[in-house]
This record gives sequence, C-alpha cells and structure tokens, in this order.
Amino acid sequence: LSGKRQVHLLAYGEDLLSRLAQCILSDHAAALPDLHHIVVVFPHHASAARFRRVLLTQAIKQGHAALLPPHTTTLTRWVSNLCPHPGKLLSVTARTALLRQALLAHPKLCDPQDSWALADSLLKLFDELQTSNHRIADKLSEFQTTLAEAYGTESHAKEQLSHEANLIHTLWHSWTEQLCEQGLTDPVQAYVSSLNQSLDQARDSWIYLAGHVSLNDVERDWVKQLLDSGRLQVFMEGQYGHHDYHPDTVVTQLLDRLGKPNPVAAPVNAYGRLLNTVYDNSEQSWCQRIADQAAATAQSPAADKLTLHLAVDAEREAQTIDLLVRRWWLQGKRHIGVVTGDRKLARRVRALLERAGIQVQDAAGWRLATTSAASALISWFDTVEQDFSQAPLLDLMKSPFVASPQNDNDNGCDPDAIHGLFEHECVLKAQITGPLEHYQNHIRQNRLRLLETYGVDGVTALEALLVQFELAAKALLKLRDGQHHPGAHFLSALHHSLDQLGLGQRYRQDAAGQQLIHLLSEMGQAAAEHNLNYTWDEFRAWLNRQLEQHNFQPPLRGQGIELMGLIESRLYSFEALIIAGASSEHLPGKSPSSAFFNDGVRTQWGLPGTTQSRNTLFYDFRRLLQSAPQVVVTSHREEQGEPVIKSPWLERLQHFHQQAYNHDLDDPELTISAGSADTRIRYTDQLPLPTPHTVPRPVPDVRLIPNHVSAANQQRLLNCPYQYFVYDCMGIAQTPTLSEDLEKSDYGERVHRILHALYADVAGLAGPWQGPINEGNRQQAEAMLNDISKQAFLADTRNNILARGWLYRWLGLIDKFVDWEVAHQKDWQPDTTELSFDQPLGADPTIQARGRIDRVDKGRNGFAIIDYKTGATSSVTDIEQGEQIQLPFYALLHSGPVDKIFFLSLSEDRVRETGNLEGDSLKKVVTLLQRRITTTAAELKSGAALPAWGDEKTCGLCQLEGLCRKQMWQANDNAST
Ligand code: SF4
Repeated sequence: LSGKRQVHLLAYGEDLLSRLAQCILSDHAAALPDLHHIVVVFPHHASAARFRRVLLTQAIKQGHAALLPPHTTTLTRWVSNLCPHPGKLLSVTARTALLRQALLAHPKLCDPQDSWALADSLLKLFDELQTSNHRIADKLSEFQTTLAEAYGTESHAKEQLSHEANLIHTLWHSWTEQLCEQGLTDPVQAYVSSLNQSLDQARDSWIYLAGHVSLNDVERDWVKQLLDSGRLQVFMEGQYGHHDYHPDTVVTQLLDRLGKPNPVAAPVNAYGRLLNTVYDNSEQSWCQRIADQAAATAQSPAADKLTLHLAVDAEREAQTIDLLVRRWWLQGKRHIGVVTGDRKLARRVRALLERAGIQVQDAAGWRLATTSAASALISWFDTVEQDFSQAPLLDLMKSPFVASPQNDNDNGCDPDAIHGLFEHECVLKAQITGPLEHYQNHIRQNRLRLLETYGVDGVTALEALLVQFELAAKALLKLRDGQHHPGAHFLSALHHSLDQLGLGQRYRQDAAGQQLIHLLSEMGQAAAEHNLNYTWDEFRAWLNRQLEQHNFQPPLRGQGIELMGLIESRLYSFEALIIAGASSEHLPGKSPSSAFFNDGVRTQWGLPGTTQSRNTLFYDFRRLLQSAPQVVVTSHREEQGEPVIKSPWLERLQHFHQQAYNHDLDDPELTISAGSADTRIRYTDQLPLPTPHTVPRPVPDVRLIPNHVSAANQQRLLNCPYQYFVYDCMGIAQTPTLSEDLEKSDYGERVHRILHALYADVAGLAGPWQGPINEGNRQQAEAMLNDISKQAFLADTRNNILARGWLYRWLGLIDKFVDWEVAHQKDWQPDTTELSFDQPLGADPTIQARGRIDRVDKGRNGFAIIDYKTGATSSVTDIEQGEQIQLPFYALLHSGPVDKIFFLSLSEDRVRETGNLEGDSLKKVVTLLQRRITTTAAELKSGAALPAWGDEKTCGLCQLEGLCRKQMWQANDNAST
C-alpha cells in the first residue's frame, strides 16, 4: 500500500516515526534485515536516534533481531555527500566577513558602522534568492522595473525604490563576481547545485522524507521530480484544505505546490474535531460553531487531555511546570516534553528540575556566547582592552577554564584561594583597579606580610598567574594600536594567549570549548585565505557576532525530559507535554522580518515572508495540542507589574471551550498546589536542629585581648562589647568595598591631609604656612590652601570627573575656615598636627595607649586638642556623660596641660566648633575615662563577658548583625513574651 501512496498525511497526534518505520518494514520486507539502500531524510538530527529505536523494536516484533539500518540524514547533508561540490567552498564564517568587505568598497551604499548588520541581512536575502525560482536581472534598470511592479508602484515612483534596488543589485553582482574571480562557491549555491545534480543518483535510492513542512522552491522542485519518479515518499502530520490564517495552511500550500492536492485524509478523533472547530476560519459564525460543538458532543473531548493554566507571574509558571514534570515522572512517564519559545523561562525550568535531581536535555541549545567557555574568552578580551581593570580580571580569574601555572603543578593551591587573595588584598584592601603592574608592585611591596598571612604557595601562585597574564597579553596588546592588521595575526595572537592561560587545553576537554576552538580556527582560516584586515575594534565586533550567531547544542538522546523550541518538537511523540510561555510575545511573537522587500513582494517572488513564518508557528502549535495524551499549555498574567497578553491561539481555545462547555480548561487544583510551599523541593538533613539563639556573651581567651587601647577600640567596647570581641579580640577586619568613585570617607581623608599640609611639611603639597593667620594675610592663606587643595585632589580629578564635585565643595569652605582661623588664632597658635602616640598609659603602665591627634594648639593656659570632622560630630552632653570618648582619650594621651578639647566641624556650608569642653568639666571626664579604662582592662583579664547590647542606634551603623544574630535572638525574645 505504501508503495502506491506517495504522500502520507497523518492525523495530528499520530506517531509519525512509528508509522514511517511500519511503512519501511512493509515496503522492503523482501530485503530485510538489509535496509542500507534506504534513505530517511529528517529536518534535523534530533529524530534519528529515536527513529532507529522505533524501527528496531518493530523489526524485532517481525522476527528480525538486528538490522542493517537505513541511512538517516538531513537533506543538506545527504545531497552534499551524494554530489559534493568540486570547487572551493566558502565557509559560513568567511562569507559574512567577505561580504562586509565588499560593502565597505561601496561607501555610498553603506555606512561603515552598519556594515556587519547589513552584511548579515544581505546574505540572508541572497540565500533566499538562491533557493527561490526568482532571479535578479542583469541590468539595474530591469531590476528596478521588476521591483516597482512587485511593489505595485507607478513608474514615476521608482526613484523611491532606487536605493534598495541599487544596493541589492550592486552587491549581488559584485558578490557573485568576486566569488567567481576567486574561484569560490557560496555554500548555499553549492547546496542548490548539489540538489540539482543529485537527482539522477537519488533515483537509485528509496527516499523517505519525514516531517518537512517548509521547503524552499529548489527543494520543492527536487521533491516533486522524485515524487513523480516514484522513488520518494513524504510523511507529514496535518490536514489538507485550508488557506489564509489557519494551522493547516502550510501543509495545504506545500501539497498544492508539489502537485499532490487532496491526499487521503486520516480519520480525525473527537478531540481533533474540537480543535479543528476552534481554529476554523470558514464562513460559519463563531456562535454557530460553538452551538454545533456543544450539540455534537455533550462532554468536552478536551477534558482530561488538555489543561490551560495561567500563572500569576513567570516564576510561578516555572514552579508549576516543575511540579507537573515531577508528578508525571513519579507516575512513571519518561517521554516528557517542555516546548517553549521563551528561553528565559526554559532556563528557569531547567534549574528547578535539576534542583529536584531531574536531568533535562535542552534540544534548542543556547547561544555560544552564553556558555562559560565563551564567557572566559570575553573576559580575557575585556581584560586586555581595559588595561587589566579589576572587574574583568576577577571574572577571568574565577573562570574554571583559567589554569594557574602553579595549579598545573598540582601543588594543592586552591584557585578560589588565589583569586580570593587577589580580590581581598589588591582590590578591596589596596583599592587598586589596574593596570597589571600596580597589582604586581603592591604584592612586591607587601610580600612579607602576605607570605605570613596567606602562606608561600598562595602568594607564589598569584604572582605566577599575574606573570602568566602579562605574557599572554603581550602579542594581543601590540594589535591594540588603532591600525589595521591581518585578521590572521589577531587569531594567532589569540590562540597563543589562550594556550598561555591554559584556556586552550581546558577548552579541548569541554564540548562548548571545542566548538569555540573550532570557530576560532575557522575564523583564522577565513582571515588568512581572504586577506581580511581589521582594527582591534573591528575584529572584536566580528568575534562577538560569531559568538552570538553560533548555537551550542549538547548531544541529545531523543528520550527523557527535553526542553525544546516549537520547530525542534516536530517528529516527537510525548507521553505528556507542556507548551510553556504561551504569551503573544512568543506565540506568534514577532515574526523575523527581513530588511528587504515587503510581504507582498516576497510572496510574488517566492521568498519566505512574515505570514509564512506565522502560519508555520500556528501549525506547530496546533500539532502540539495533539502530540501527547496529556497536554498543559501555560502562560502568566504579569511581568514586573505589566500585564502579559495571552497568545491569541490560547485565548481562542479557552474562550471557545468556556462558551461551549462552561469551563475554561483551567485546573484549580494545579494552581493551589503550585502556589503551596509544600510542593517545592526542600533539602533536609538528619542533623539536629540548631539551638535557639540568645544574646551572645562571649568570654575571650585572655591571649586574644589586645594589649593596647585606642580611642576606636574603647569606643567599640562602650558601644557594644560584642563589636570589641569581633574586631579587636578575634581580629576580624571590616569588609572593605571597592569604589572607583571618590567617596565621603575619601573626601574626609583628603581634607585632613590638606589641613595637615597647611602647618607641616608634606611631600608633593604646597605649604607650610609660617606665622599666625590674621586679617592682614588671610588672602595669602586662602591662596595657599587653594593650591594645596588642588594638588591633594589632583590624582582624583584626573581619574574621575565626579571627584571635582568634592574638590569644589571643599574650595567653597576655605574662606569660612580662614575666618575661623583668624578668630581662633587671637588666643591660640598652632603647635602640632597629626601628633601620634604609642606609649604606656600613665595610670597603668601595663596598658599601651595609641592614637593620633589631628591638631594641638597652644594657648595662655595650656593646650587645645582639635579633631577635624567632615561628617557628624558628638554633642558635649555625650562627651560629658562618657558616651563619646575620642576627645577625652586624646586629652588623656597628651602630656598637657590640656585646657580645651573640641571638634572643628567642616560641614557642607559652615565651619564651627562643637563638643567644646574645658576646665574642671574636662578634668572630671578625663579622670573618669582613665578609671574606666583600667577597670575594664582588669575585668577583661579576669574573664568578663563581652555581650552584644543590641542598642538600636549602634546596630543601625554596625555590620555584624549576621554574626551576633540579633534578629534571631529578638525573634526568640518576642516569641517567649
Ligand atoms: S548588630 Fe548591634 S548587637 Fe549586634 S554586634 Fe552590632 S551593635 Fe552589637
């Protein structure tokens, strides 16, 4: 029977591969088990493995334990092997680069900025033209006339089309002539010629064409001729007889064009009839169809087969899919498909399922640029381009593809420890943002300390890694001179650098890495063969485009749980299926529009248009609705607060069913279960529950108690003893953060340096000022402060324009500061600035006291201790009550007599003294402070606890909440009250 039927139009939902296997076994029963003379042509490779399994299973049932299997292939591969092109083929990588070169030779037609994008669009058009029956006329005027006719434009309006016509005509002819001159053949042209030449040889084979619904003109002609010769059979799902906006249009158009209209129709079940009625585009009214459907079947044929689920948002949609797949998996289903055009959703579903221990195959693959192999390459380029800026360099160091030379020697040095050392010491602590020699200098200058802290292996490994980066970048850096260089030089420098970094070797052990190496080799070959020259930026643009345009597809097994796009789902048959992300953004989504010609012209010339892509997608959606016994279509209501519009195909189905059966096919139980935390995967262990947290009150080992006191550690002890325990006893440093901008703390540090330079000799800065400042010389004092300030901010303002804001803020305060100096110096003379102490505390010589006072002035009755503040200051009440100890602590350190202490507040718009304390009040505060320091020191030595106090104001400025677990002990307190 199958020998007589050339077109097998299967009902939606029928397992095409199974039917194909039956036909082949029946047609070639006499030749069994030898089927090697048969060719089965699929649209993609993903179906081959499953088909071979199905075929073998059926052969075994017929008593054949083994087979010489048929040749399974794609059309492109088969005809290229059958009739290989004798000439030199242009690689896919080379042709964009070559066409771009041709475009640059016509500056009037193309802006160089757009050259890559235009080359891509033109190549797509040339491919479409070469595989269509339309030919571009030799003469421009003739082409213009044809184009104007296709647009339906009057001849006088031809001018408007002249740019498009001129561009296409000129480039097409110059492109074909260039290839001809260089003896090259475009791969699509070679495919077309192989197709035409293969006809005779193909007639010697038995060919089964399965699942092809989109054939171009030349493929269609080829299939038609082989159909006529009786050597080819076509297998496809679908129905014949509909046109325009209908899922069956693609099949109808293809069969009409193959000259095989009205094939034998497959029987349609009740569910299929319901779907046909929903998507019917005939004259019959919507209401009439609903009434007919309800009358024909009282129970919905979609019940128990189809669920339409609308989640609140994308995350809940992903959780619902995860739940469904896990349920089906537990029910024993093993052929489960998740089909979606929403790649973001696909990634999230994959992550959720993998968290549940379910491995997922992604048949759609992903862009090569998004693989971790390509990310390492991109980070390396960014590192070289940005002169070893810390951000890309850290990304590179963290890549599993980068091998340190020390690691290769397997000395046990953890790569995380190496980049951790680099990040902490060079970036966060030293605030170095590049270039490479600055990191290296820092390590050299601090080598002894680093060796003590991190050990010799870690430091040596980091040094070796930085040297390795330096060597690897050398050849590439030479090409960053803005000049044109042969593309082959870029590729060879790149390969060399990848090998230096250990990337080359690790790429060879990774599937995506191997593809990347292959791509770079192809680019190198293209550049060498065609003398392609680039500047650094142009080469980078070429590389980026290649990474974006190549897809990475992991190997497929054709079973299990698979994620795929709609096109990849053809020829699959599932036990259960989810069509996910059914929003209008993806179904039908934006059809890939061409940069050239409108849909009308495209249809007339046989080129693919937006209507055709939309109809193909509609066909795939309709086909999928019947491709499993259980189908769930999911979408979500909103995305980041914006409503998401449902796919019109989903909307139509839901509306129809609601009106015909008073049910919108939703499953409320699924909505409730997916929203419940009980249905999510949670990892539990057998360890006992942690004990509830209470306020920590650690007692430090006496050896950990610092043997010195400072204003800062005494203030911490006062604010929250637990802070003192963490920072001063345990020695845990506050986490530094890197800021490439000047921050407020940096501003304060610059102002302190400027005021120090006003009265002391500071290298690189003007000053110091000699003598008192008064009304007579204040202008000179202001001028000197201006000079010092500009010098102090010079490096910042050079590197960062925003730093100028801080400089101008300070310059605006200088006259107010000098006002204060003039008034202040009537009674006081500057004595010392930045006065450091490290001495035994008078009252208890076993305690070492450390500190640095910003400024000490001398007056008639003694000294004034001044602390400059660019931020908040403390009130005199806090100082008197012993809550703030900085200034009294300095008074305690100074040999005196100290007559006065105060902060000089240098706020945004004024300069004023605050926290003034003098005379007996000052003496009393200092005495009490001294007593407290000695008492506390004794208590600590005798084992006093250091509790966390949880004072709201102090906690608001503290970074230790994660350590003291304040929220936990507060929650326990609340629970117990
Ligand atoms: S968060 Fe509060 S209680 Fe905890 S250590 Fe910091 S200041 Fe003390």
